[in-house]
Amino acid sequence: MSKGLRWGLIGASTIASEHMIGAIRANGGEVVAVMSGDRARGEHYAQKHDIARATTELAALVESKDIEAVYISTTNELHRDQLFAAARAGKHVLCEKPLALNLTDASAMVAAAQAQGVVMGTNHHLRNAATHRAMREAIAQGRIGKPLFARVFHAVYLPPHLQGWRITQPGAGGGVVLDITVHDADTLRFVLGDEPIGVSAMTSRSGMAAVGLEDGVMGVARFRGGALAQFHDAFTTRYATTGFEVHGEEGSLIGTDCMTQQPRGEVVLRNAQGAVALPLIHESLYERSIRLFQDAVAGKGTPAATGEDGVRSLAMALAALEAAHTGREVAV
Ligand code: NDP
Repeated sequence: MSKGLRWGLIGASTIASEHMIGAIRANGGEVVAVMSGDRARGEHYAQKHDIARATTELAALVESKDIEAVYISTTNELHRDQLFAAARAGKHVLCEKPLALNLTDASAMVAAAQAQGVVMGTNHHLRNAATHRAMREAIAQGRIGKPLFARVFHAVYLPPHLQGWRITQPGAGGGVVLDITVHDADTLRFVLGDEPIGVSAMTSRSGMAAVGLEDGVMGVARFRGGALAQFHDAFTTRYATTGFEVHGEEGSLIGTDCMTQQPRGEVVLRNAQGAVALPLIHESLYERSIRLFQDAVAGKGTPAATGEDGVRSLAMALAALEAAHTGREVAV
């Protein structure tokens, strides 16, 4: 394992407290400082998570000599300028999804990281799941033949403690498409090893999201290789299960309980020989994300999802939103 990094957190967020601080520490890294827009909240957060310093100044955080990398997990409209500042200061950046609210900004973020020679990753955790990695490998090995269809079941219930900006603030990049469909897009690209070229979608609002935001979506993406992929995402389904299926000419992969933040789920391969569960070794999705990121900083490989992957997942999500608004299939 490459050396743990000294991190600064941009955003005193739930995802950092529930997953990423632990993932950094599990990889031998150190969380040196946290930046929050609110001094008292930042100081409380630092104390609660045993982080040495809190600041409200972005410049103070990114210019700290004792910080090598930053993790950006603020609301989505803030990611762009925070990444620009970090890259300019020579810090490697792991940024949350969606990278930005439009493709021009997201592409500019990738270009800024490249220009400054820093590593940039997008925190698409599902690529790190043993389930999705096993499905990708099985498809690459030709075990289901040519993929014809995929189905993504990612309708969940947004827990009460997250029922904030996601359902009230269009300007912060709220809504289920930028929150969840963007993950489906990345996972489909990763598992199929293919690129979406068109999307049709319909969105719904069933009582949770405010005017101007959707809390449910169903859609279909067309992939370059010919496969169609159906996706269903929601904030409002309390009792649904998650899953990810790929159906090919010679077999089907049925992933269950796998569109989740937890290291769990299973994958069954069904074909003419019957049905067999693929062997999986589960590990924390977020610990693997940090491990691959720090390896990339050490010159070994790339982050699990790169900045460019973040641009491409956003492209499909934005196309889904446009398709829902226009009622037409939209090119990605
Ligand atoms: P939070 O709402 O927890 O945090 C976002 C911002 O809201 C924080 O930066 C913080 O601002 C502010 N905030 C947080 N809690 C409070 C509070 N109690 N009172 C007032 N302000 C608060 O968001 P999430 O952690 O859910 O999401 C953050 C980012 O991470 C988003 O981009 C999201 O899309 C992404 N995400 C990714 C996941 C993944 O698995 N890859 C999973 C969940 C989220 P400040 O920093 O100024 O204090």
